[in-house]
Amino acid sequence: MNKKHMYINGKWVPAVDGNTRTIINPFNQEEIAEVPEGNETDTQLAIDAAREAFDNGEWRHTSATERGKLVSKIAELIERDHQELAELETLDSGKTLTESLDDMSDIAEVFRYYGGLADKDGGEVIESPLPDSKSKVVREPVGVCGQITPWNYPLLQASWKLAPALAAGNTLVIKPSEITPLTTIKVMELIEEAGIPNGVANLVLGQGSKTGQLLAESTSVDLISFTGGIETGRKIMTAASGNFKKIALELGGKNPNIVFEDADFETAVDQALNAVFFHAGQVCSAGARLLIQDSIHDEFVQALVERTKQIKLGNGFDPSTQSGPLISKEHREKVENYVAIGINEGANLLTGGKRPEAEELQSGFFYEPTIFTDCDTSMRIVQEETFGPLLTIERFSNEEKAVELANDSKYGLAGAVWTKDIRKAERLSGKLRMGTVWINDFHPYFAQAPWGGYKSSGIGRELGRQGLEEYTEVKHVYENTNPAPLHWF
Ligand code: NAD
Repeated sequence: MNKKHMYINGKWVPAVDGNTRTIINPFNQEEIAEVPEGNETDTQLAIDAAREAFDNGEWRHTSATERGKLVSKIAELIERDHQELAELETLDSGKTLTESLDDMSDIAEVFRYYGGLADKDGGEVIESPLPDSKSKVVREPVGVCGQITPWNYPLLQASWKLAPALAAGNTLVIKPSEITPLTTIKVMELIEEAGIPNGVANLVLGQGSKTGQLLAESTSVDLISFTGGIETGRKIMTAASGNFKKIALELGGKNPNIVFEDADFETAVDQALNAVFFHAGQVCSAGARLLIQDSIHDEFVQALVERTKQIKLGNGFDPSTQSGPLISKEHREKVENYVAIGINEGANLLTGGKRPEAEELQSGFFYEPTIFTDCDTSMRIVQEETFGPLLTIERFSNEEKAVELANDSKYGLAGAVWTKDIRKAERLSGKLRMGTVWINDFHPYFAQAPWGGYKSSGIGRELGRQGLEEYTEVKHVYENTNPAPLHWF
């Protein structure tokens, strides 16, 4: 079995107390790696290394152009090793290799984008209202950044944090999900190979309640960036209040996918499937709430159910597989519990709602793609993030009702509108309370555009210029060009 280490202050190290964790493949529960199980002591060492590298190291004084070149170099190394990285991601998360390869291309683009952006903000000279003076506004790195990532897009989520933090001149400690650390470990090897100085980027592994919690609490950490569920987000926000550190939270979503009667029927059916069942629904922006206009409801549901029954579950390495397993035993139980809740709430189970029976799927954490109709916003299965292959369907009569239903949620991450009437789509995009609205599409995101949520879906933005700005402090520098006594006292 593959033995891995943590990366602290430029050295590959085991946990101080020698504890380890076995990582398994969710497709067959085979043991694929043994990694250190760090705790508060290891995390403190990583924080100290990042603090020292920020306070007394060269990194933040290195020119933005030079930092950008190194971040772009990481993009090149990811491209060089993309096959190995993608295979590791599929082994560790169960997602199909096609998805993992796409992730790796996106990840390289994220590093390339921030590498290029690093030296593009030259600050701003502002017109001072005072005589004999000059005024400028500059951006500086925040300091030591704690970065905590989830298991559903292990390296993609890490890249959204690592690339802008490094480009802006920060130092960091990253902590991936304890169940999917393998690609983050590999990318730290590439960060080392690219020549990022010792202590600038550190990796700790271990349980969130120990390692992540300390990153959020520590007064030596200046910023905490977290992607994960809302309950953990709440703990992090509370812990971060100790030294009022900057926080960036990318939390959950329960995203409405709104289909009007004038939408292109075939395309809307096809993409509604992709919106919710991609990666077994373990996507923060999954279109898990489908809202269909009355007049096409029955026909649309019928087409959807027929196609859903054809979805091929299997090994992510098999090119014919369309969806892999859920990430863990516990997570599948959570999804099963939501299905039971849906049935109790009176929703109508049309397909799925159980584990698949095929022999070859019995060792993995598989669950059949599941559809409920007759849903409404009073139901927990409509309001809560189930994070599995579970679609709830509501119906609406007109535009106003569609907006009202879509916004009746504590979440506000993303949503989509399907219609040929582009004016209607644009009206809706202005009324929907969410960070991303797709018109006649679902899921696109890219390095150039900001990503993040309204309401309980989070605070701050990743990607785009905004994703870099999160990792900067704004400083006003004022110069009196003709200093003289004031004679006030
Ligand atoms: P999670 O909240 O259980 O865990 C996320 C990370 O937080 C893990 O690394 C975990 O170890 C750590 N953690 C746990 N307890 C902690 C604590 N007390 N202090 C600090 N860190 C702690 O989430 P998950 O189950 O890994 O991921 C799924 C969630 O992530 C879903 O809610 C999903 O919507 C969300 N997500 C959001 C986005 C987005 O862009 N908004 C993207 C991907 C995933």
